[in-house]
Amino acid sequence: MMQLSLPDRPPLMPGHAPPGRRPRLLLVDDQPVNIQALHRVFASDCQVLMATDGNRALQLCRDRQPDLVLLDVQMPGMDGHQLCAELKADPLLRSIAVIFVTAQDQPEDETRALDAGAADFITKPFNPTVVRARVRTQLTLKAQADLLRELAFVDGLTGVHNRRHFDERFIAETRRAQRTRSALAIVLADVDHFKRYNDALGHLAGDDCLRRVAGALRACLRRPTDLLARYGGEEFVCLLPDTDLAGAIGVAQLMEDTVRALSLPHPGVEGCVTISLGVSAGAQGQGLVEAADKALYLAKAAGRGRVSWVEG
Ligand code: GH3
Ligand code: MG
Ligand code: MG
Repeated sequence: MMQLSLPDRPPLMPGHAPPGRRPRLLLVDDQPVNIQALHRVFASDCQVLMATDGNRALQLCRDRQPDLVLLDVQMPGMDGHQLCAELKADPLLRSIAVIFVTAQDQPEDETRALDAGAADFITKPFNPTVVRARVRTQLTLKAQADLLRELAFVDGLTGVHNRRHFDERFIAETRRAQRTRSALAIVLADVDHFKRYNDALGHLAGDDCLRRVAGALRACLRRPTDLLARYGGEEFVCLLPDTDLAGAIGVAQLMEDTVRALSLPHPGVEGCVTISLGVSAGAQGQGLVEAADKALYLAKAAGRGRVSWVEG
């Protein structure tokens, strides 16, 4: 095995990569010695995950979302081709880049891998410098694709996530909650009498109000996994993983207080801008948003500017 001299190594990620986030690599090979060889190449500048069979690798992809998989083809049980097909068929795992690292060296092997959605194909025995260079290229492409996806998921007016992003994350978090038997909570927030606000102050002032409200709501989220999105016109949604009903009610109450504390004058109601919130929690899927919507309706009916909840 060729040894790399550290100072000569170009950095794995370009300068515009998100700061503080090391690329996450998954090494899959049924021979531990091959994993060790690749581990030596990447351990200093990547988070390295490892699996010696396809099923474990698939589980790691679901749980840890690596940026890139270096994948052996021939393995007992689920082989590399099967694993690659599973990843590419799953909308939540599709963006993970796959590079095959294999003893096969025939053009048809390579073509089959690329047709299956692999980004690249490296033949064993490999040269560490070449592997690094190819991985760097794929990580750069992955970072650019992630950035584009991120931009496509941001609401243009408020800068929080948009409905599309919520829908995608909601499916993923519902699945995770069911698998891990953990609670998932939804908070729906709707600006009170917002039509009157627009009517009194104009649409541009209304837009500004929505930006202020979005900022206040965002400030109430504490965990990196919490998600705030604009759900519709003057309606926002929060997705709170690993949060039970009591915890979510606490977040919703903080949101109600925080928006009230902005003290934005609302000429349409001779007071200030308030929001109504509906909360639900549980481990099931679509019913959760409907339950939160029902709770929001209850908050409106009970006089607005308050939190209501429905058990999911
Ligand atoms: P309620 O307290 O029952 O929620 O009353 P409301 O007036 O807030 O509810 P309604 O659904 O009747 O009106 C929502 C208003 O929100 C009407 C719509 O023009 C306004 N709106 C929706 N999206 C935007 C936006 O992007 N900018 C602005 N300025 N107004 C918006
Ligand atoms: Mg409203
Ligand atoms: Mg509304």
